[in-house]
Amino acid sequence: MTTVTQIKCACPSCLCVVSLTEAIEKSGKSYCSSACADGHPNGTGCGHTGCECHK
Ligand SMILES: [Zn+2]
Ligand SMILES: [Zn+2]
Repeated sequence: MTTVTQIKCACPSCLCVVSLTEAIEKSGKSYCSSACADGHPNGTGCGHTGCECHK
């Protein structure tokens, strides 16, 4: 039996799933990257393949 340690990034347009140990926490939410955590201030994505969360 495996413990669930992965959650979806809290960024609404992001499709990434991030492990809890690697997630970046901000304001009580967990994000897959600092770009997501900051709300994509420069229009940059998280850099994960296939994710277009910065658009
Ligand atoms: Zn993303
Ligand atoms: Zn994200």
